[in-house]
Amino acid sequence: MKYDVIIIGAGPGGIFSAYELARLAPQLRVLVLEEGNPLAKRKCPIDGVKIKSCIGCKPCSIMNGFGGAGAFSDGKYNITNAFGGTLYEYIGKDQAIDLMNYVDGINLAYGGEGTKLYSTANSDIKTLCLQNGLHLLEASVRHLGTDINYVVLENLYNELKDKVEFRFNCGAKTVRKTDDGYAVTTADGEVEGRYCIISAGRSGSKWMETVCRDMGIPTHSNRVDIGVRVELPAEVFAHLTDELYESKIVYRTEKYGDLVRTFCMNPKGAVVNENTNGIVTVNGHSYEDPAKQTGNTNFALLVAKHFSEPFKDSNGYGESIARLSNMLGGGVMVQRFGDLINGKRSTPDRIRESFTVPTLQATPGDLSLVIPKRILDGIIEMIYALDKIAPGTANDDTLLYGVEVKFYNMEVGIDENLETPHKGLYAIGDCSGITHSLSHASASGVYVARHIVSTLN
Ligand SMILES: Cc1cc2nc3c(=O)[nH]c(=O)nc-3n(C[C@H](O)[C@H](O)[C@H](O)COP(=O)(O)OP(=O)(O)OC[C@H]3O[C@@H](n4cnc5c(N)ncnc54)[C@H](O)[C@@H]3O)c2cc1C
Repeated sequence: MKYDVIIIGAGPGGIFSAYELARLAPQLRVLVLEEGNPLAKRKCPIDGVKIKSCIGCKPCSIMNGFGGAGAFSDGKYNITNAFGGTLYEYIGKDQAIDLMNYVDGINLAYGGEGTKLYSTANSDIKTLCLQNGLHLLEASVRHLGTDINYVVLENLYNELKDKVEFRFNCGAKTVRKTDDGYAVTTADGEVEGRYCIISAGRSGSKWMETVCRDMGIPTHSNRVDIGVRVELPAEVFAHLTDELYESKIVYRTEKYGDLVRTFCMNPKGAVVNENTNGIVTVNGHSYEDPAKQTGNTNFALLVAKHFSEPFKDSNGYGESIARLSNMLGGGVMVQRFGDLINGKRSTPDRIRESFTVPTLQATPGDLSLVIPKRILDGIIEMIYALDKIAPGTANDDTLLYGVEVKFYNMEVGIDENLETPHKGLYAIGDCSGITHSLSHASASGVYVARHIVSTLN
């Protein structure tokens, strides 16, 4: 069977490519290959009772399957060019925003209606930040919430399942150029298509490296973000989260001039484990449904580490730090801010006595044994800076979970059509290295679908 378009990966990038292709050119035969399970079968076995930590399922239900890495996320669609990727460098700022708004409209039509859109425009918080050496990045944020995000994905799947062909538990192994397109091998055999869109996300980053190597596609990689997840009583950040939901705040440290930023803010949310290629790091999410909310807010504080030649393995550096925390803590580690400042390891007793009740069972420990001094100093400086706009942030009982690592996929050599040097072979979403968010990945999917349709004759 020969397809018009083969899409590798059913995360937001792949889903929105499929959606737009089905809408604009329903005559096309489109195949979506997905390594993971359909949405309904994605179940992480960690129940906190029998299975307390990651057992390394393959595929991982959190990262793989219909909906991709974002399926159980907080569903925050940031409509901005200020963060979340550099898609705008390829397709222009206005078009990038238009596409993110288009994606937002689809999310609303498929179950997201009634969810709130937050905005930093005209916010007094921007002034408050500036008065305290902090910088609030501009954005609109649609917060679907973990529950509604799931419903939207369910509805999108039902919309697409009769229009495009999905093959689950069917990972692509190799991609090869043929006379008139591409051949993709899977465990079930080979499929051929005229066009191929690779949208393998973060979990597919290592695989993507082999594809680029085999096909001579240039790549570039030099960045990793390392930090902690902060958890504190929701009241401390309520004036920010009530107005903005998510505030992306950047601070330049006095000591080293490094940039530290807040990332992935989850009001009344929960801290969770994240498994990337067997390494357990920390993340967070929150629900729109008040019944599922907690009394805490969590967010990450990250320091970006850029490396220069000859060092090339920025993700390897981040993995080593995460491995160290896994070695000492058996997974994610938690420490009270007061203990960190006083040079003490947090103990189970001190965590139990803490006024901030942890939402993730993590091993009490000492983050200073894991996180490089320069990064930890930056995080501590930022916590004190945030304390000025949100008093209580630097309380002794503020909890720090480590480590949070944001891996960046290598940047794949693609042009303004998001097309590799091989005509008809596209790289989109997080596996291209140019997006790291739901909205940018989805927008890149729509963009490439439209480009393919424009080349049909
Ligand atoms: C816990 C968590 C919370 C997050 N919260 C947010 C948030 O609130 N807001 C936000 O903007 N971003 C968030 N993100 C990031 C966001 O999920 C990603 O940026 C986004 O999902 C990227 O979309 P994608 O389609 O490029 O890749 P992915 O979503 O990673 O999807 C790629 C898919 O490809 C499949 N795949 C990989 N290799 C192969 C192969 N060889 N063959 C076939 N299939 C393959 C994978 O199984 C996966 O399903 C979060 C991420 C996580 C893990």
